[in-house]
Amino acid sequence: CFCQLQGTIDDCACNVDTVDHFNNMKIYPRINSILASDYFRFYKVNLKQSCPFWADDSRCAMKFCSVQPCDERDIPEGIKGFSLESPSFKYTKEAHDSIVDCGSDLNAELSYLNTSISDKAHQGFQLWADHDEAQDNFCILDDHQEGAEYVDLSLNPERYTGYKGDSAHRIWRSIYLENCFGSSKHKHSLSFIPYIPYTEITAGNSGICMEERVFYRLVSGLHSSINIHLCANFLLSEKKGFMSESGVWGPNVEEFVRRFSPSDTHNEGPHWLKNLYFAYVVELRALAKAAPYLRNESYFTGQAAQDKELRNAVQDFLGVIDTFPSHFNESTMFSEGVGSLKLKHDFREKFRNISKIMDCVGCDKCRLWGKLQVQGLGTALKILFSGKFDNAASMIKDEKNESLKLKRTEIVSLFNAFGRLSTSINRLEHFRKLMR
Ligand code: FAD
Repeated sequence: CFCQLQGTIDDCACNVDTVDHFNNMKIYPRINSILASDYFRFYKVNLKQSCPFWADDSRCAMKFCSVQPCDERDIPEGIKGFSLESPSFKYTKEAHDSIVDCGSDLNAELSYLNTSISDKAHQGFQLWADHDEAQDNFCILDDHQEGAEYVDLSLNPERYTGYKGDSAHRIWRSIYLENCFGSSKHKHSLSFIPYIPYTEITAGNSGICMEERVFYRLVSGLHSSINIHLCANFLLSEKKGFMSESGVWGPNVEEFVRRFSPSDTHNEGPHWLKNLYFAYVVELRALAKAAPYLRNESYFTGQAAQDKELRNAVQDFLGVIDTFPSHFNESTMFSEGVGSLKLKHDFREKFRNISKIMDCVGCDKCRLWGKLQVQGLGTALKILFSGKFDNAASMIKDEKNESLKLKRTEIVSLFNAFGRLSTSINRLEHFRKLMR
């Protein structure tokens, strides 16, 4: 079967079988139980940002594209930053309001003024710190923008939405043709098909260096994952007459075969599937690298028992990740001479551009999951290449070091993005069984 992949994953010294076994037996059940927790299922995102590159061509009116809003009351206070123990409480509007409410006597007012002035100084400093921090980011973080809202991911599963045609193709095309590296020949000669043929990617004389291949493989792996999800959660039959998302959802083998099997025109499907494994091992490595930092996180929602349970689950999960036998070796990238700095800069800028392109996706549900997964991958790249996570000891000692801090939105997107790749690999196994 074309989807029974074999051999090593390119640019990484590990085997497809090893990943299949490790993921399906050890990772998949653990990550999914972690992602069901309150801390990980509420994601703050701005879905209203307009497309910075072209006039919005369609805001899909299909009912399967809509994102179900979340009831503010369901979001734990600790996540919103309203709890006294919450790390972000000090600077929320509510915190300020409660200080004003504290009393009208002069001392209270003076004390408010002092707090307010020092808060302002702190906020000014924070702005600069955030600015510096943003230089290392591979994505634009929009959780603090006006229009950002919490979404309950468990109510909005990634699945078939019917988003296709010109709008979807324009996104993929601009991601591949404008933002992937690759020889200029491809940029000019490919009018539509955005893939760079596998034989060219691997050929020594193609002029495509390892970093460029990695970039392409990551994007292609993400593309495969999205398409596997829509095949695995396909609309098999719709209950007529309902305006809700009512229907029967399940795997569609024909759709899967159509997308990934070798065809008359090209033979790339199995390579695209292998790219999914590549994206998986890159994110797996990022989690392993940031493990000392992630072990110290509080995963605070304000619900003591649940938070403790989650911290234990994360410890266990990171312990298992540590046992993976052949992690991706990021130190081989951006290591050759002065040109590598420029290459790294371009790599980051191109990836940031992809994160902006997500605001052009014309289907809200696809936009939600696209943004989440691109942000998760961007966080993984930040961990691997910003240099801030290179020293395990400093990650533990410097837990108060703001410059190392990952924002909640980065942690939530990193785990969820990895969960998507893990689920795709698991679904692939399921398709293999169905096809047998
Ligand atoms: P497409 O997937 O649109 O691919 C276009 C071309 O890219 C193909 O013809 C092929 O040449 C090439 N290609 C395909 N796969 C790869 C790969 N892995 N690597 C390299 N090249 C490849 N639809 C949903 O139903 N649910 C979703 O949640 C969803 N989320 C999306 C999120 C984003 C960010 C985008 C851009 C699209 C999303 N879509 C989603 C749409 C979906 O990805 C497809 O675009 C759509 O189903 C049309 O598929 P297609 O067969 O025309 O090929």
